[in-house]
Amino acid sequence: MALAKKLTRGALMITKKVLASLYVVTSVCASLAWGENDATANYVAEYKRVSGAYSDIMKSIENAKNGDEWDEKFHKLQGFMSNPGLDRNSGVALCAHLKSLDHHQLEYVENIIDSEITAISLKSCRAELLTRISYASRFRKASFDLDSDIARIRPIAFEERVVDEKLNVLSNQGFKDKEVMLTFDDGPTKNVTTNILNALKKAGVKGAFFSTGRMALANSEMAKRIVAEGHILGSHSYFHTLMMGRQVNRGKMSYDYFMSEFVGGHMAVYSAAKFIDPFFRFPNGCSNQNMARNVAELGLKNFRWSVDSFDWQFQVSKNPDYEKRRQDILKSFVTQLRASNNKGIVLMHDIFKQSGEALPLILNYLSDNGFKVVLLKPAHRQVTPNQEFPLVTQAYDYINSRGMKLSQVRPATNADGDPVSPEGYKSPVDFFHMFPQLTYQQHAINPAAADCEYR
Ligand SMILES: [Zn+2]
Repeated sequence: MALAKKLTRGALMITKKVLASLYVVTSVCASLAWGENDATANYVAEYKRVSGAYSDIMKSIENAKNGDEWDEKFHKLQGFMSNPGLDRNSGVALCAHLKSLDHHQLEYVENIIDSEITAISLKSCRAELLTRISYASRFRKASFDLDSDIARIRPIAFEERVVDEKLNVLSNQGFKDKEVMLTFDDGPTKNVTTNILNALKKAGVKGAFFSTGRMALANSEMAKRIVAEGHILGSHSYFHTLMMGRQVNRGKMSYDYFMSEFVGGHMAVYSAAKFIDPFFRFPNGCSNQNMARNVAELGLKNFRWSVDSFDWQFQVSKNPDYEKRRQDILKSFVTQLRASNNKGIVLMHDIFKQSGEALPLILNYLSDNGFKVVLLKPAHRQVTPNQEFPLVTQAYDYINSRGMKLSQVRPATNADGDPVSPEGYKSPVDFFHMFPQLTYQQHAINPAAADCEYR
């Protein structure tokens, strides 16, 4: 872009911001004159607090040094946007702040704005923000078109294989050279999961989706589509509470809370899709030995990964150039794939726009370089009403016989819909009565234990 044009654009943006703050200032003066000083002063203070907090979290996301840290901060942002504060001005203040952002910054949080969790907090501006985002992306269609990229995806060799019963924790064991499994976490979402499913279909391959219970319930049609198109649908906890293994080891999370996240998430994905595969992935892959043993005792396979694509790092707001952003993700994917000897389980996410955009490039790389996509699946898998779901059936038997509700299985929430504190949490469900086969029933806190046992 020519410098003059850049400067004009910068000046325009600055003018906009100045006008917005002038508006706040003049409204303050006007209201002061009319004696509404208390209410206005409260609002101004709340606006300052909310926009400051939002900017701080954003900064911490940009400065994240690794995937776990990024994940933690991004979930903090989700939490903040769903519950910006107790003041009645909090939601309005958050709306005012979001309206002051440019469209790249807005697109970064599009899925949060568009999800159920902000239905109340962003009530007054949600529709307006989504319209702005959609106009911005329509305008950009001139420079790229994801649909035509998907149409150019070439076929890839594909094989379905029954998961090795002997393995408890899966990452790249049992994969031959140039064999990869594709997995997508944290969704489903309307926009990104749709692009991913379309791309996989075009390549003629299938993948595994590890969905959180909360997202599956919010996008149940998408969860059903995943199953209908022959992909694996596993669970990834209910709220995606971070670093569960570390928190349990340090006594910051009760064992009951972990069980609520684990069983509640599995039940919620099942209830959204009316189907679930006996596959589970810990949030951040962070477990401890006893938690991993419980997963195995309930008949579920514990999935880790060996190739982190780092798709989460290339957020739209920091990487505004579409082509560069997806080329960077491809580069990062290829580097990680080589580091894993060109085989193993690939980790991507179906909540970030950039992941859906980069997938056509990744699939064509696999196609052009002689890779095969392998889908590990449970033995005796049948997507029919006759399928048995051992954990699900047992859990339903327990809650039905006690007249309990499914929502009591997952962690309780406070009045704002946020999960209660995991420390010392007691569930109304006695999980060890629900599942008498669990051999591990008590957790003694062992501060000497490893933070996360990635095994
Ligand atoms: Zn995750």
